Amino acid sequence: MEITSAEFVISNTDVRKCPAGNLPEYAFIGRSNVGKSSLINMLTGRKGLAMTSATPGKTMLINHFLVNKNWYIVDLPGYGYAKRGFKGQEQIRNIIESYILQRPQMTCLFVLIDSRLEPQPIDLQFIEWLGENGIPFSIVFTKADKLKSGRLGANVEAYLRKLKEQWEELPPYFVTSSENRLGRKELLDYIESINKE
Ligand code: GDP
Repeated sequence: MEITSAEFVISNTDVRKCPAGNLPEYAFIGRSNVGKSSLINMLTGRKGLAMTSATPGKTMLINHFLVNKNWYIVDLPGYGYAKRGFKGQEQIRNIIESYILQRPQMTCLFVLIDSRLEPQPIDLQFIEWLGENGIPFSIVFTKADKLKSGRLGANVEAYLRKLKEQWEELPPYFVTSSENRLGRKELLDYIESINKE
């Protein structure tokens, strides 16, 4: 799919204030600093669209970006940022959970996983929670350029093995880099294929 336009629409902390209408939404989530903003900018080809930040865990908002005038990218707050403190983390959890559970427009949730790390309990727990709630999701491995290909393949395999302990069937997954645009076409084609259904 070609991206012909991508524009910021609204940020908020309340799912009831998200845009009206029935356009499909593709939401992106992951631990703070996983590379979510960079990925959104890479996908849309708009460098400053999502706010990347050297300060992890800065954004606590649900951000809507309208793409090609007919679907949304939704940038959800990053989870698991300890410096926020317990109360801050609870707040973020409520925002994330209310969006995911109360937004029928959400067509697929992309869960971002740093390809350099071994499977992290916080991500596995989150994925389990998605399963319990019947949420459609895919996995996006980020920062692939930071690893040699052998290591990258081994890490992805290890992750999939871990998921197989939880799931009979693996979710779709993508290996990406915002640095060299790896996985861009695959992700956009996947979104296009769901949009056409
Ligand atoms: P967010 O907190 O999940 O939105 O993460 P950011 O997109 O702000 O990225 C966090 C840090 O990782 C920044 O320093 C980015 O430059 C870096 N980063 C993000 N994606 C990539 C990538 O694909 N490759 C490399 N080498 N660095 C990345």
